[in-house]
Amino acid sequence: MRYFALFPLFLFGVSAQVSNAQVVNTSHSPDAVLHPVPIQAVQLDSSSFWGQRRTVTLEKSMPTMFDELEQHGTLDNFRRLTGAAPASTPRKGPVYTDSDIYKWIEAAAFFLTAAEHPGAEADLLAKVDTAVKVIIAAQQPDGYLNTYYVGEKANLRFTEMHRSHELYCLGHLLQAAIALQRATGDRRLLDAGIRYADYVLSEFGTDKKPALTGHPELEMALVELYRQTGEAKYLKFAGYLLSGVETERLHLRPDQTTYMFSGIPFTSRTAFVGHAVRAMYAACGATDYYAETGDPAYKQTLDRLWQDEVRHKMYITGGVGSRSEGEAFGSAYELPNAQAYTESCAAIANYMWNWRMLNVEGDSRFADVMERALYNGINSGMSLDGTLYCYRNPLESSGEKIRNPFYDTDCCPPNIERTMGALPGYFYSTSARGLYVNLYGANTLDWHLENGTALKIAEQTNYPWDGSIDFTVTPGSAAEFSIYFRIPEWAQGTRLTVNGATQSSAAGHYAEVHRTWKAGDRVHITFDMTPRLTASNPLVRENAGRVAVERGPLVYCLEKPDQPIALSLFDESLELTPNTRFKEQRRADLLGGIVVLEHAGLAASKPLEDDPLYRDLAAANHPRERPVQLTFIPYYAWANRGQYEMEVWVPVANGGNIRAEK
Ligand SMILES: [Zn+2]
Repeated sequence: MRYFALFPLFLFGVSAQVSNAQVVNTSHSPDAVLHPVPIQAVQLDSSSFWGQRRTVTLEKSMPTMFDELEQHGTLDNFRRLTGAAPASTPRKGPVYTDSDIYKWIEAAAFFLTAAEHPGAEADLLAKVDTAVKVIIAAQQPDGYLNTYYVGEKANLRFTEMHRSHELYCLGHLLQAAIALQRATGDRRLLDAGIRYADYVLSEFGTDKKPALTGHPELEMALVELYRQTGEAKYLKFAGYLLSGVETERLHLRPDQTTYMFSGIPFTSRTAFVGHAVRAMYAACGATDYYAETGDPAYKQTLDRLWQDEVRHKMYITGGVGSRSEGEAFGSAYELPNAQAYTESCAAIANYMWNWRMLNVEGDSRFADVMERALYNGINSGMSLDGTLYCYRNPLESSGEKIRNPFYDTDCCPPNIERTMGALPGYFYSTSARGLYVNLYGANTLDWHLENGTALKIAEQTNYPWDGSIDFTVTPGSAAEFSIYFRIPEWAQGTRLTVNGATQSSAAGHYAEVHRTWKAGDRVHITFDMTPRLTASNPLVRENAGRVAVERGPLVYCLEKPDQPIALSLFDESLELTPNTRFKEQRRADLLGGIVVLEHAGLAASKPLEDDPLYRDLAAANHPRERPVQLTFIPYYAWANRGQYEMEVWVPVANGGNIRAEK
């Protein structure tokens, strides 16, 4: 492994056994069609869209977030239990802060796996070592490991599982520990996590005390622990948690099981309700559980929930969770823009869930949702410089402060960091038939097929700014297999050629290219990146008479600094004509380098707020609008120049003709 050459692990005094570091390892899952390649098999070009984003995360976000966690007492919460900090040090932060440092360690592990930036990674490794030592020192003799239910609160351990987040924190501990063991071979944290998990398993279960994940998360961690250790008891306990059989023993009320998305059988769910991140994490765990057990009741439920999400409850940005009250899903079509809660964690959870569904089914529609969430609702969650974060990601703003370096509930920042850290591991998967290309971006793959045939792929592209992508395929020796290229649903009119010969490439599928591949074979894909106008189902009442602008995988928005007029952004509308065209302009100087889109619009000649509340439409004439040029930027890049008005769904001046346009 490349890693060894850079950071000898005898530093830890452990005999390191590095394994292949998949984000989710379905290599031996009986009901998974796809098997992710390890993170270290893929190197994103440093100048590529995601390569740059990863570098910023590694060099800026990771060290500054570690400092923030230190300053806010997250690690002192452990130190005060061992005498490493004065016992008089008060515990700081909400009940779930332990999970923040666990997620940060998981992110660090993913970066250490890739081993691409030795200087930054050496610093990261030292911080990980500090954190791991502090954490495992605080473990109780019986295995319990939590900084909140200690001291005078120790008698409350596992007595308030609907709010305690004890099992949630254990889940994040296990995920961090597994990632670290896979990345570096360091299993100190994994051993601590297993001791804690075994303590939980010894105390709770159907014939023991009742347990509940008040915030689902542990389910997917336990399935991964099963995959890592081969110990079936962890899978079984995940099934117990998902079975929701303890409703009566725990005296759970319907409003609680709705909010938590746990406590009743997962397989009884018919729609996404309640806290969005909880519900999505529960679906992640249930999908992992299905991948190992093949229980058809889970598959049916997951399919039903997926339809509910994409037909009724997902924002165009891939965000979910409409309501701030309860951080919750709304009803079907309840997708307000300014009020959208759309927590960064919920978009990430959506991405994580669709990744698991992709593994199970191998259907490109899941990767389409991943791409939508990644480029938009997740990417917006971290500033371009990597030091400020959104908790909410609304689709309209009147300019309120949206980015902060830290949150008291700091779940989102390290969640974004672990997503960026793991990114290379999402690009490709293998199946028995060959290789799947899930995401696009300049990179190299150095891996092998499931039959052992070595395979290298070099992908050159300026995606997502440009729709032209070149692949050079180099198998170890000439071999017959398939490469599946995802043709996104938005990519109508895609051209795909193999050594110059055109192959079929219908949108919304993986285009299978089956042949005897030889070293130097070339595949070229051209996606049509013409900007698209997108309308909502009319039942999304707030989007009536409005359109969103998309280009490739990116959702665009209007932000005030780009518009030429002094009026409010909300006095403007898009003027569509039968030959509507956007002017596309590459702006290397703007917002880290983007393509801006310009289009004719209309602006009120005086602020609309000067108008009366109601007016007689028949009596009105409209000489009062004047032409303006509207400039759209990618949604992810908003709120990087200060606090300004922003809008994704833009009113159409001549709204009745939307259908005729494009
Ligand atoms: Zn969050």
